[in-house]
Amino acid sequence: MKSETGSRPVARSLGIRLVLATLVFCFLFTVAAVAVRSFSAWQDALSEMDSDLAQIEQLYRLTLSKAIWEVDREALQAHLEGVATIASVGRIEITVRSINRPPEVLVRVSDGWAPSSKIPARSVSLDYEPFPGGRETVGQLVLAGDERVLRERLSQSMREIVLTQALQSLLLAGLIMLMFNRSVTVHVQQVAHHLARLTPDRLGVPLRLARSGKARDELGMLESGVNALQGNLSDHLAQLRRYEGELADHRDRLAELVQARTSELESLTESQSLVLTLSNRLIHAPYERFDESLRSCLQEVAQRLAASDALWFFPGIRGEALPVFLQWHDPVPDEHRQLLLVRWATRLSHGFGEQDLTLYSRRAEATRQFSLEEVVAFQSLPIGACALARLCSGEEDFGFLFFGRPDHAGVWNPQDRALLALAAQMFLHSARHKAQLLELLAARDALREANRQLEDLSRHDPLTGLYNRRHFDEVRQDEYRRALRNGLPLSLLICDIDCFKGYNDHNGHASGDECLRAVAGAMLASLPRSGDLLARIGGEEFAVLLPATSRFDALKVAERIRRAVEALAIPHPASCVGSAVTVSVGAAQLDPDEDAGFDALFEAADQALYKAKKLGRNRVEVAEVATVVNPFPAS
Ligand code: GH3
Ligand code: MG
Ligand code: MG
Repeated sequence: MKSETGSRPVARSLGIRLVLATLVFCFLFTVAAVAVRSFSAWQDALSEMDSDLAQIEQLYRLTLSKAIWEVDREALQAHLEGVATIASVGRIEITVRSINRPPEVLVRVSDGWAPSSKIPARSVSLDYEPFPGGRETVGQLVLAGDERVLRERLSQSMREIVLTQALQSLLLAGLIMLMFNRSVTVHVQQVAHHLARLTPDRLGVPLRLARSGKARDELGMLESGVNALQGNLSDHLAQLRRYEGELADHRDRLAELVQARTSELESLTESQSLVLTLSNRLIHAPYERFDESLRSCLQEVAQRLAASDALWFFPGIRGEALPVFLQWHDPVPDEHRQLLLVRWATRLSHGFGEQDLTLYSRRAEATRQFSLEEVVAFQSLPIGACALARLCSGEEDFGFLFFGRPDHAGVWNPQDRALLALAAQMFLHSARHKAQLLELLAARDALREANRQLEDLSRHDPLTGLYNRRHFDEVRQDEYRRALRNGLPLSLLICDIDCFKGYNDHNGHASGDECLRAVAGAMLASLPRSGDLLARIGGEEFAVLLPATSRFDALKVAERIRRAVEALAIPHPASCVGSAVTVSVGAAQLDPDEDAGFDALFEAADQALYKAKKLGRNRVEVAEVATVVNPFPAS
């Protein structure tokens, strides 16, 4: 930006202003000087005129005195005229005294003379000494100066004074202007021009005033001050530029960082979205299709990574080829290439450190630790960049993930890195999820088995292995309703070992238990039809539910049971019936028309049993309501 003084011409030079000031001063000085000197000149002129008059007086005093004494009128007139011609004399008056006559006054006045109190005048008596000691006053001489002469002399003096003063003033002003111009104005203008042209690029050009010698005056101080200012400004600008450069570098670095972070975040977001989708798929995958879902996830991750091969290895024994859990290839490799791939990945995993994820940008980077033979062996594999991820968390080890890219696919970018890290985490969690799922399934099966066993126990009598009362009560209701629904007969047998208390008392409780088991087995063997239900409903009481069985058929079954027990021929010395263990059976059939409830049927069978006991035991009795006659009387 141009400065205002630089763009505008100088209106009035300092020198001119100085000269004008000098001239004004000189004028005033001249006026004062002229006044003083005029007064002095006037005084001088007066003195000079007075002196002139004194000289005339001196000169003509004697001559005039003599002419008067000698009454030489001609001479007197001649002297009078002579004096009157002298310039300084304006008026001459000679008074001639004589003893007998009145004094005669002779006057000569210059033309235009006017009397004035300012002009000098002299008056002297004219004395004559015709003989020594005989002095006598013969007249009076009065001389008066001429004011015009005085004024003319004064004006001449004043002209000279004014002229010399004016000349002196002009010369002084010129000298000052010249001096000021040469020693100040030129340099100030140079400084002004230098400053006007000063730009940041020209700060290095110092101000050099065109002066001879280096006087340590104000201009010298100005010059060094301007140069010091330029130096300071230059340093300041350099520092500013340095700061600006640093700021720009910092800004660029910041912009690069922001760009990198932004692309990382974008990559992370995309990768997160993919991994989220895949994770959801795995979470909702049924167990039986879990591995299939894992494989499809592996394929999608591999395709997103532009990988040609993706392998998931189980943890293996060091030095041996790792067992492959899942794999995906595009294109599908032949057997040889497949083997090479597994060896390659196995070899890489052996060099794996403690880190979770290792990325190799190029093939050469991956094979850096390989021996020459290995490098040659793996030469035919068309893999460039590859990555190895350890699927391991604490004590859990789920092997390795390997991704290989074809040569032309380039190096891993931030998005690939983010996806690899997230995918490795996802596969690790899915493997852990699968392991937990397996554990859960095993636990579920074990629980089911335990439940089944519990259920079994809750429905069976531990001594005989037959169904217990609880099961019998549940089933009897179902069978009862079914019989009513279908209009089919339902028969019930209640069997009770005869005189069993005596057996226990005679043989001991353990033998009694053994006897119970044997009787149960014989009874069960007498019931080949799958629909029939035998249950131990009391200590030595058994119930047999015979669905779709008529009273007649029920009597046959009851008799078969009775005989089977008898056929066991378990010695029973304390029996009140015979020598062996026997049972009495009460039978009853449901009357569908009455619908009096199962309890009525049970009661009827129990009554029949009571009857069998009462009639001698080891026999079968049918409920009294029954019209069927027992065709198998006790032997
Ligand atoms: P009855 O011919 O009239 O049926 O005579 P009983 O002695 O069999 O009659 P009671 O009902 O009085 O006796 C039944 C006995 O069965 C009593 C008991 O000692 C025995 N008992 C019941 N439950 C068991 C068991 O689980 N084990 C053994 N060893 N004995 C049992
Ligand atoms: Mg009993
Ligand atoms: Mg009994």
